Amino acid sequence: MIKEIKGLHHVTSMAGDAAENNAFFTKTLGLRRVKKTVNFDAPEVYHLYYGDEIGTPGSVMTYFPFGNMPKGRRGTGEVGTTVFAVPKGALPFWKERLGTYGVTGLSESSFLGEDRLRFDGPDGDGFALVESAERGRTPWTGTDVPQDAGILGFHGARFTLQDAAATGELLTFMGYQKDEIDGDITRYRIEGGNAADTIDLEELQGAKAASQGSGSVHHIAFAVDNRAKQLEVRKALMDTGYQVTPVIDRDYFWAIYFRSPGGILFEVATNEPGFDRDEDTAHLGEALKLPDRYESHRAQIEGLLPPIEA
Ligand code: ZN
Repeated sequence: MIKEIKGLHHVTSMAGDAAENNAFFTKTLGLRRVKKTVNFDAPEVYHLYYGDEIGTPGSVMTYFPFGNMPKGRRGTGEVGTTVFAVPKGALPFWKERLGTYGVTGLSESSFLGEDRLRFDGPDGDGFALVESAERGRTPWTGTDVPQDAGILGFHGARFTLQDAAATGELLTFMGYQKDEIDGDITRYRIEGGNAADTIDLEELQGAKAASQGSGSVHHIAFAVDNRAKQLEVRKALMDTGYQVTPVIDRDYFWAIYFRSPGGILFEVATNEPGFDRDEDTAHLGEALKLPDRYESHRAQIEGLLPPIEA
């Protein structure tokens, strides 16, 4: 069993309009944009990162806004809901705020004793806010969302699957423990990790497979402390038969990827070096940062990227 994984690192999704995406996460949800860069494989597309003040692993929602990409269709074989934690008592604030901002898909529920508020992202993305203990986390303060209601980071994610068994086995191998069950949903939790430590597996037998598009999660990344731990995880996965990519330098972390048995693309990302490696913390996310290989094409790339608000 792998003991190096510490919960979630980031969640990466696809979007349509870049300016709309940026406004939703920085204004409506009050997260900080901690990096403005490009898709390293398609530099005419942004890669936007939103999180807490420094982009702490376990708080970082990232997007590739592809412009006029068709919307995805929710179904099985995907991350159906990305779940953020908010302080206890904050849901009434959010219900009113999201309503005021015209956010759709609002519905309140209780799951495993937690109050949650579901809502749609700008491309029909599935999100929820869950009231949760703060566990040493603090929300970004550079927003009009009050400190006692701000998003603390991820609580976890809910996968929608045709058959949850094989994914459950994989999560167990990755260090998660089977926790509570409610109907068709089984919670897995990792001990000793960061606060983004839950994964819920929802089994929807006979439901249609998801089709990816804007509003779909592209991949979900799990955190390890450093590159040495990442190599241990890579070896353990490969020894178990998973096909894992080589280690890829993403400038702000190192990444490996593999396909989970339920169809969801998993990444394992390092907590080092972090988003302040090329910008002061005070100015994270303001300037367009490019990986070295694209720096000589900066003017051309800047000409292709749509404007987004600071
Ligand atoms: Zn990633």
